[in-house]
Amino acid sequence: MGRKFFVGGNWKMNGDKESIDKIIDFLKAGPLDPNCDVVVGVPAPYLMYCRERLPENVGVAAQNCHKAAKGAFTGEIAAAMIKDCGCKWVILGHSERRNVFGETDELIGEKVAFALENGLHIIPCIGEKLEEREAGKTEEVCFKQLKAIADKVSDWSRVVLAYEPVWAIGTGKTATPEQAQETHAALRKWLSENVSRKIKRSETEVAENLRILYGGSVTAANCKELAKCADIDGSLVGGASLKPEFVEIINASQ
Ligand code: PEP
Repeated sequence: MGRKFFVGGNWKMNGDKESIDKIIDFLKAGPLDPNCDVVVGVPAPYLMYCRERLPENVGVAAQNCHKAAKGAFTGEIAAAMIKDCGCKWVILGHSERRNVFGETDELIGEKVAFALENGLHIIPCIGEKLEEREAGKTEEVCFKQLKAIADKVSDWSRVVLAYEPVWAIGTGKTATPEQAQETHAALRKWLSENVSRKIKRSETEVAENLRILYGGSVTAANCKELAKCADIDGSLVGGASLKPEFVEIINASQ
């Protein structure tokens, strides 16, 4: 069985009810490729608003959640709260969480473990900075971030990994399909060698089944070329997920 195409939207800290209603309208109008899983990452105050209005075939994700069930963690949200809002997904370790809010590999690993233990589906994100790519360290950095996540995964069927080179996020500078494919293939090889074997599955089981999304300035103009790459199973989309062209990105593999 092939991996089902997957497109995530990351609205970041954007939107109000008026603009969200417009996004909901174009997602309802679609038409959306039934062979693509779609999930939108919405700001926490709008989780319930979006879940109640979006069609069932569009999943809703929080953009972060804490590593504890509840308590004195002002400003954080809990896995149980996301589920209580009717949502099943959470994005974890986005580069803005890492680089603006200082989240470490260790903390992201703890969040991964906790979110999975509490029944959520997760979209953990990894990716190198420009200086790391230029220093030839792309794989080293991505493997380190991936290991911190993989060590904490209890159920790979609820994980969709996003590779998002930091230099491509929100910059309009997309990785070429060749650059993205090269890293995706390397990540899949790492998973085959380090995860599938470790959990004593067939050597390729996790590696072959895990969907790996590319993220970084994906638009309607470049999504189709990226979608053709063998190890790219969809995209995680920031800016363009707020616009009607998001429907074209969802339908990129048609
Ligand atoms: C993102 O926020 O994950 C992202 C990839 O943003 P953009 O598509 O705007 O580069």
